[in-house]
Amino acid sequence: MTTDTGAQIDAHIDEDEIVELMRRLHQHQSFPPHEASAMAELQAWLAERGINADLIDVADEPGRPNLYYKMDGTGGGKTVMYNGHMDIDPVPMYFEGDPWEFKIEDGMIYAHGLINMKAGVAAAAAAFIALHRAGIRMRGDLLMTAVVGELQGGVGAVDLVQRGLIGDVCIIPEPTGMELLPLHAGAIQFLVHTIGEAAWIGAMHNMSYVNAAEKLARIITALEGFEFDSPRREEFPGLPRLIVGGINGGIGRQYAHWRASYVPDFASAILEVRGLPGQDYDDIQRQIEDVIRSVAEGDPDFKWEIERPPATNSPEWQSLKTEAYGIDLPPEHFLNQTIVKYHREVRNEEPGWISSNAFNDSGHYTNAGCESLCYGPGGHTIIREYGIEIKRVVDCAKIIARAAVDMANMDK
Ligand SMILES: [Zn+2]
Repeated sequence: MTTDTGAQIDAHIDEDEIVELMRRLHQHQSFPPHEASAMAELQAWLAERGINADLIDVADEPGRPNLYYKMDGTGGGKTVMYNGHMDIDPVPMYFEGDPWEFKIEDGMIYAHGLINMKAGVAAAAAAFIALHRAGIRMRGDLLMTAVVGELQGGVGAVDLVQRGLIGDVCIIPEPTGMELLPLHAGAIQFLVHTIGEAAWIGAMHNMSYVNAAEKLARIITALEGFEFDSPRREEFPGLPRLIVGGINGGIGRQYAHWRASYVPDFASAILEVRGLPGQDYDDIQRQIEDVIRSVAEGDPDFKWEIERPPATNSPEWQSLKTEAYGIDLPPEHFLNQTIVKYHREVRNEEPGWISSNAFNDSGHYTNAGCESLCYGPGGHTIIREYGIEIKRVVDCAKIIARAAVDMANMDK
């Protein structure tokens, strides 16, 4: 790429326009599974600029679309993909003020959902539009995509993969604080049930019963602090790690709490495990089952089940709907090195490198043959930031636009 191309790109990246896109996306409270109106907003913003992107519903969820557009290359180059998720985190207690106000102060924006990751989506869209307007010819295609349900393990990403709507390489502007994140964890969830035998409180002295909640409590106690017998890596402190993320119990599989005069006959705990790139989830499941078996041993009334993935059709347990995978992209990989090159050019500094215990959609794309890197403007979500620096978003757009040109001109 020539310096001229960089100047051409920058001439078509407009800070006010990017801020306006963030403002428009922020208006939509796109908690999963309610991303559709935010997705339509992005579609409209692109259409106003001559790009008519498709909204494609994910399988089995009518009205819940991903966004997809392919800009055709001249042929022979790599297909480069921009990707970001439109679903947002719950509003944390530490958020000061009104999360739905779009407050700009000293070059920062304070508004919920921008960090993870509407600011990144805006950077990708701005980069895409800049390349479209500049009319820069590239050999490979360029894909603009936005997905639903990343926080649920990658609902939208899995759908793009299944439809074959992915590239050869992918840039995801997740909140990495403008550092490269080529190494991150994966995650899986299980739902463990115990099944008991109900009895009315007034009749317990003369009938048998089995308290499912009490059995579940024994499993939870046994899992507390459980250490997997699996290899570890220093970049992933504490992983693989398990938590009990939620519990429920009551009468019947719907947990009827309104009749708490009965000993509960059904209780459930949702477990999450964070694992390394390449973690063997079958082995993780076996180890969890061994713990439960050891608790149940010698107790004929101890009945239990395990679900993987957890009841994906039940709103009660709608957390991770798909398994998410870690990635480990070598530092010397051209995807890393292309971002490093243009980070230096645009920001006049060396970029940092991080690894993370967080998962994201890059695992799905990488496993499908589309190597992926996270690099984006939001601060790391593991620290309690809630403002986004506007300059970072603009710089990110400039950097990933340049990177796309280089990579799309590499042989497929
Ligand atoms: Zn994210």
